[in-house]
This record gives sequence, structure tokens and C-alpha cells, in this order.
Amino acid sequence: MVRKKEYTRREIGEHRLRPESLMMGYGYRPEWSEGAIKCPIFQTSTFAFKTAEEGKAFFELAYGLREQKAGESLGLIYSRLNNPDLEILEDRLSLWDGAERAAVCTSGMAAIATTLFSFLRPGDVLLHSEPVYGGTEHLITNVLPQFGIDVIGFPAGPDGPAAAERALSEESVSDRLGMIFIETPANPTNDLVDIAHCAELAAKYSNGRKVAVAVDNTFLGPLFQHPLKFGADLVIYSATKFIGGHSDLIAGAVVGPDELVSRILETRTFLGTASGPWTGWLLLRSLETLKLRMTSQMKNAQYVADFLADHPKVDRVHYLGHITEDHPQYELYRKQCTAPGSMVAFEIRGGETEAFRFLNALKLIHLAVSLGGTESLAEHPGTMTHSDIPAAEQPRMGITPALIRLSIGVEHYEDIIADIEQALDEA
Ligand SMILES: *Cc1c(COP(=O)(O)O)cnc(C)c1O
Repeated sequence: MVRKKEYTRREIGEHRLRPESLMMGYGYRPEWSEGAIKCPIFQTSTFAFKTAEEGKAFFELAYGLREQKAGESLGLIYSRLNNPDLEILEDRLSLWDGAERAAVCTSGMAAIATTLFSFLRPGDVLLHSEPVYGGTEHLITNVLPQFGIDVIGFPAGPDGPAAAERALSEESVSDRLGMIFIETPANPTNDLVDIAHCAELAAKYSNGRKVAVAVDNTFLGPLFQHPLKFGADLVIYSATKFIGGHSDLIAGAVVGPDELVSRILETRTFLGTASGPWTGWLLLRSLETLKLRMTSQMKNAQYVADFLADHPKVDRVHYLGHITEDHPQYELYRKQCTAPGSMVAFEIRGGETEAFRFLNALKLIHLAVSLGGTESLAEHPGTMTHSDIPAAEQPRMGITPALIRLSIGVEHYEDIIADIEQALDEA
């Protein structure tokens, strides 16, 4: 197999092909593998070099011992560094965000950790939005400080920009900004963070070095939000969620410009966080139906959110599709997101007892963490995904004992609603 990205088509004449049309074939040609129209699984740990000279040249590039020559690309060496299933997957993943390059990792957390450790050094400050995914929260607040990295949070939602500015203008902070990490929409509240504003702050406090803005785009991306368009440098995914989409694998990815992603790929090689060929192949298959799944889930979620908003046992619904003109983040929502996605959180009338009764009564929807899969899932952020955040701090981030998070799947929406309706009756 002689794989070269430039051998595969991205346009027909002047007509540029859309990502969904490229998901079935981009980056691969059947003649490379006995005419197989699907890319085989390259279940191998290592790759034979044609000559010793070739092996030497590959290692020089892999270890950065010399500059890449024009037209030269890193050959296949060993599956911790690269593998055809991962490389083809990375080419296809980049297309949705219009990025130059991608790096696929063993999990969303591996993608986040590999990215943070590529750019942060002792003495740096990491500015991050709050709330973030529970695992990210733990990594940022408990692990990074052990490496001499100071972390400062600011709230997602309308008060975020002013709070972020205030934090950065502190004298002890303003010349130490190393990176900005945000999650938008925020999990589980769907509050938004202004990506363009974060890019402005990164430029303002850069002190001559590159301060990268990384956006966890797991909730809406890669279909309904494209952070690079608003000045973000890196876009991170838990590919376990919508990209994988079938709740049967764990993976993560980061996409962005060649210059930054190459640094992440180097860190990935030495932390050993690259994903494997089998997961890569499963993700290639998942990408073919990504748009179909996300669109169907998004439509279903609209019906579910409307039903919840009208129900007497529901106090509040957090759903992007319900943001109206009088909402303080209306403009930002219209600018930054192209659709509301399929994550819905709601507060049941009462507290933890009522929330648990509802969750225990569900019959079609599974009681499980994770999201973005074909099946609908429900969970209790306060005691599950976000239990690491002290109970006293949770309400400040909108995580109340009555809050339930739903990830809406591809079932018939009337069946999902029937299940929610009977479970609300039980509560
Ligand atoms: C799940 C999730 C992660 C972590 O991803 P894993 O694949 O579980 O490691 C990170 N960010 C968000 C928003 C998530 O939902």
C-alpha cells in the first residue's frame, strides 16, 4: 500500500465535495489493497522497511532529527507512531473542521492530556471555562498543579468574558498565560463560551509566545459547531461520543493546524496515547453515518425538549434550541452554533429523590453516563459525571440535585417521549 493523501479526490472539476460525501473514500484507494473498497484493518504492530536507508530516513523525521524535505512524508514505522487506519481516519476527521491535520488518541481524556502536556510548562497559567467534563475537571484541578501549572477557571455563560478578563489582568497572572481551554456548550448545562473572545484574550496576553486556544467540541461537533472559524487553534473531541456514535469504543481526537498538531503527535508518540488499528477502523465506519445520526438525534431532541418544557413536573429545561431573542446568549448562539444538537438537561420538580425515582423508572432509555450514541441515555450529573466537583460548588455551575442529563438517540421520538412520560409519572 502506497498511501498518499494527494492521490485522493476532494473535488470534481470546480465542484468541491462536502465532508459527508468524502467520508466513504477520502484518503484511500481500492487499488492499494487488492481492490477492497473498504480500507482493511492493519492489525500489525510494526512495518517492514524496504531498505536500511529508508528506515534511517523515517526515524530522522519521527524524532525530528532534521527538517522534512519537500514532498517527503513520514513513512510507516511502528503502530505507536502511525498506522494506515489511523492516518486515513485523521485525514477524514480533519475535513469537518476544515483543519490541516488531526491526531487520534486512545480516549477523549488522552487527547486532552496529550494536548495540555504539549503546550504547558511549569510556571504557566491555564485559563479554563467552568464547568467542564468531570475527567477534564480532575485533570485540570488535581493533576496539572502537581506539575507546577496554575489553573484559573471562569464561568461559561454570559458572565464569562468579564470574569476571564478580570482573572487575566491580575498582575501575578498576566505574563504567565500558557493556554486557554474551553468547553462549549458546557456539559451538562449547555451554557456557551465565546470562542472569538477567548482568541482575543490569547492574542492580548501572549507576551510573544503562541498561546493556543483549545475547544472541547464534543457536544456539537464536528457537525454543528466549527471553532476554528472563530479563532480557536485546536479542536478536541471525545470520539467515544458522536463520532464513534454506537457506544462501543473509547477514543479521542484533536484537529488543527499542521504546526500545532505535529507537536501533539510528537507528545503522543512518547506518552504512548495513539489509538489502535481496530478502533481506527471502527471510527472510519462510524464517520460514514455521522451526519445521518447527528441530524436524526438533533431532530428527536427538539421533540423531547418541547415535551419537557410543557410538563408540570419539570421546572427548567436546558436546551440550545429553546434560546430565544431575550436570552443573554442569543447572539452568541446564532453566531457560533449551526444547530442545537441532541443534549437536553432538565430539572425535575423536587430534588435528588425525585430525580432518582425518574431514572429508576426508565424502560427504553438506559441509565448510563456517556452520550452521543444511537441509543438514548439518562444520568444524574450531580452524583455521577460531575460528582468530583464538591457539592457546595455544584449549584454555582448550574448542577442542582434535581438536574438530569439526557442524550437523545435515533429511536422513534414518540417512543422516547412515552418512556419519559411514564417515568415522570412514577417520580
Ligand atoms: C466524554 C467526554 C470527555 C472524555 O472523553 P473520553 O473518551 O471518555 O475519555 C471529554 N469531554 C467531554 C465534553 C466529554 O463528554
